[in-house]
Amino acid sequence: MINDKNLVCHDCRKLFLFSEGEQQFFAQKGLTNLPKRCPNCRLSAKFKRNGENLDELHKVDCATCGALTMVPFKPKENRAVFCRACFIANRAAKDDVPAMAV
Ligand SMILES: [Zn+2]
Ligand SMILES: [Zn+2]
Repeated sequence: MINDKNLVCHDCRKLFLFSEGEQQFFAQKGLTNLPKRCPNCRLSAKFKRNGENLDELHKVDCATCGALTMVPFKPKENRAVFCRACFIANRAAKDDVPAMAV
């Protein structure tokens, strides 16, 4: 039985949710370590690694599920932006994907 867990982020020391779905994802990948960082810190670490500036990220709502997501470009008004999960689902559904989500 898997339940949502609250973990403390290694970087910002805030609690973040390690959801049931994420735990299943980790289990599928054979990962036994718990995530050390909250999604925000994970994202900023990723962008720092890529040499991108987090200040230039734009917060947008996913066009499909409404989840807050961040993209390293300024979204155009007439272009839908998707969170990662919906982006992958969309890409699976059709080849023409409007915008790349992080
Ligand atoms: Zn954090
Ligand atoms: Zn979404």
